[in-house]
Amino acid sequence: MTKHILFCFLALLSLFPAQAYAETPADRVFRNAVIFTSDSAHPSAEAVAIRDGRIVYVGPNSGVAPFIGRATKVTDLHGGFLMSGLIDGHLHPLQGGLKMQTCSLDYESLTVEEFQRKIQSCLDKTKNQEPGAWLEVESWFQESMRPAGVKTSRATLDSLKTSRPILVRSSFGHTALANSRALALAKLTSASVDPPGGKIWRDADGDPTGLLEDSAQSAVSSLLPKPTPQDELAAAKAAQAALNHQGVTSFLDASGAPPSMDAFTALQTSGELTIRAHFASLIEVEQGANPAAAVAQVVANRDKYDQGALKPQPTITVRNAKLFLDGVIAAPAMTGTMIEPYRMNTGTENAPRWVAGKSLGPDVYFPAAPLAEILIGLGRAGIDPHMHTDGDGAVRAALDAVATMRKALGSADIRPALAHTEIVHPTDFPRFRQLGVQPVLSMQWEKPAGDTLGLVDYFGPERMKIIEPSGRLAAAGARIAFGSDWPVDALDEWFALKVGVTRTNSPSAPAEYHGRLGDDPGLSRQTVLRAATIDAAYELHQDDVTGSLQVGKFADLIVLDRNPLTIPAEDIANVHVLETLLGGRTVFDATPKN
Ligand SMILES: [Zn+2]
Repeated sequence: MTKHILFCFLALLSLFPAQAYAETPADRVFRNAVIFTSDSAHPSAEAVAIRDGRIVYVGPNSGVAPFIGRATKVTDLHGGFLMSGLIDGHLHPLQGGLKMQTCSLDYESLTVEEFQRKIQSCLDKTKNQEPGAWLEVESWFQESMRPAGVKTSRATLDSLKTSRPILVRSSFGHTALANSRALALAKLTSASVDPPGGKIWRDADGDPTGLLEDSAQSAVSSLLPKPTPQDELAAAKAAQAALNHQGVTSFLDASGAPPSMDAFTALQTSGELTIRAHFASLIEVEQGANPAAAVAQVVANRDKYDQGALKPQPTITVRNAKLFLDGVIAAPAMTGTMIEPYRMNTGTENAPRWVAGKSLGPDVYFPAAPLAEILIGLGRAGIDPHMHTDGDGAVRAALDAVATMRKALGSADIRPALAHTEIVHPTDFPRFRQLGVQPVLSMQWEKPAGDTLGLVDYFGPERMKIIEPSGRLAAAGARIAFGSDWPVDALDEWFALKVGVTRTNSPSAPAEYHGRLGDDPGLSRQTVLRAATIDAAYELHQDDVTGSLQVGKFADLIVLDRNPLTIPAEDIANVHVLETLLGGRTVFDATPKN
């Protein structure tokens, strides 16, 4: 009997080999936990010990005792779930934080009347701003207006009781709606020409309708008062608190600009930073004209802001560059670059007749030669490119550019990422693995909703089947990372991860959004959790120190109120984080106190 127990103990030990350094007691121990480690060699454990911000033990309960000293804080989780902190591989934290403080349409599916009522209520609350101050409205889920296909224009806003100029931004960020006062201030008339990479929607007389796509927005948005550094600092603080609340311990700001880097640097300097902050320094479309200067600017941002090797306590990292290769496939923008044309309606609105069209969307925003040249320059400088690619044409252009870069730079450890990839041509699936390119997926899009279902007319039934191809990419061996894209959508990491598994909308969504999206198999729960931990750590080039619970890594971990591996999949959306630790320090705590 004793022999048998000893055998079992030895067998257990061999599952968790020599991960113990017990000379000095740990600062913190969690035991009696169900632990998902994100370490494929040792996927589960029961206890973890932390000292000086790092993990010093992961393994069975039986091995943690030597780490417990008089000063060790011991938490018995009674079977509670613990995992690595979430890493959000693509979001916009400063914009997210700023939006927490403005007039917001909250990403809701609205009728035109509801849309007007909400904006009127913002105007009514700020009557002291009449007649001249701008009203900025955020988080408009334009693609989900009800009934489907309903149009909005400046007239929608002109009927509101105000003289103020108004700009309403769609949550996808690619469209904005301006009222007549705003258009007049921006001097947009029938004579205005579409800027490169932008479109001014026009009525039958050629007058602007008020809808502005992509770079055409800047005629208006450049007139808006800029947030002050104080506004930005407050936004950064609000953003990191909201992220820690959801269990996020590292992020990549996917359009890292100096104001965001400044705000988070200020938090770091004052010792208030509670998240590992990475920035992808933005290369603007116009900079494609001078690849060397574009790379030099990213390097200059790195030299100015990057704080060097990561430490248990959070710092600022600039090791990525961001490039937009196209817009969005969603109607009505259809600024995603496609390999085969969007279909078009040759009938009427009431009696539509959808046929093969001619438009492939815009040309890829960076032509092939300068794009490859920029990637090679970035690679030589040790900077990973992060490319916005929504349509399959943009995806292919990015893969081609990476292929050229790989040829030029051989086996250098460069980790290119393609954000969104809402549609990928099937022949390109294997290239992600072959070229070492990571898809960074905004998983909450992988469900039936206005933006996705609205594509059927423009894409046709065959392409509809393969939109949001997460499962197909995984099956082709791609290493998928998660990126919420907040505030393009509301910050709801666990809903996004749920959709990554189920490809369903919320059970409370309108009936037309029930069921699964397309015929993609989706992702396993383990793949989804890895995408938001170790595989996103890989994207951020910090998988040597974060992303999994392993001895020596930083103690970035979260305690959840339920086990996302065993609860009904729909229930993953309801996961609540009870405690978030960053480098061993508690940065969010909602543990029930008794
Ligand atoms: Zn984004």
